[in-house]
Amino acid sequence: MNLIDLIFPKKCVNCAKSGDYVCANCLPFISFDVKNLCLVCDKPTYNSLTHPKCKSRYSIDGCFSAISYNKIARKLIFNFKYKPYLSDLKTFLSELFVESIIQNEQFMKLIANGEWLMAPVPLYGSKLRKRGYNQAEILSIALSKKLNIPVQNLLVRLKDTKSQFKLTKEERKENIKEAFELDDRSLKLEARNIFLVDDVVTTGSTLKEAANVLKRAGAKVVFGLTLARD
Ligand SMILES: [Zn+2]
Ligand SMILES: [Zn+2]
Repeated sequence: MNLIDLIFPKKCVNCAKSGDYVCANCLPFISFDVKNLCLVCDKPTYNSLTHPKCKSRYSIDGCFSAISYNKIARKLIFNFKYKPYLSDLKTFLSELFVESIIQNEQFMKLIANGEWLMAPVPLYGSKLRKRGYNQAEILSIALSKKLNIPVQNLLVRLKDTKSQFKLTKEERKENIKEAFELDDRSLKLEARNIFLVDDVVTTGSTLKEAANVLKRAGAKVVFGLTLARD
């Protein structure tokens, strides 16, 4: 047992039973039954691909997610973001993300064709310094190790946006507008295929805004890739 476990004993995020972050009884509550909705029109779509009729020049092409954003997922992701000392939880969620995403045939078909980059959705500078890590980058690195897709921080966050949590869909869109710009050090994006990685997708406003910036910079295809989907 390491020191961290001694100070912060592991307990189930759902029922508080000590031993692990998710105990054997609560594990089945993690759901891989993810909604397949078009991020543009919010209606059902095959494999979460954006409907051809919903596509425009700078729109996102689709979004794949590992688990459903249900009660237990909310608790896990809250701990992932706000309890930085829980390093085993980071490992647990990274593995959950990787193992579920690689089961997605559509995703595997995409990566078999062409060169891809993974770009974590960035945090605002002061938030990153306070937290010490970007949870989206942790997820990206885990998948990168498994599939050999390079990770690059292509975007910077210009605004310390309010948490999207309590906002309506319209407010979210307004809140995130012009929140990102391309990192100066980014490669030329012409003809690049990019996965934008984030912890959760809800209305998709963050991913759509970030995809817009990448496509304006010349990216060819942009898909979202998230741990959870609301
Ligand atoms: Zn439990
Ligand atoms: Zn649509």
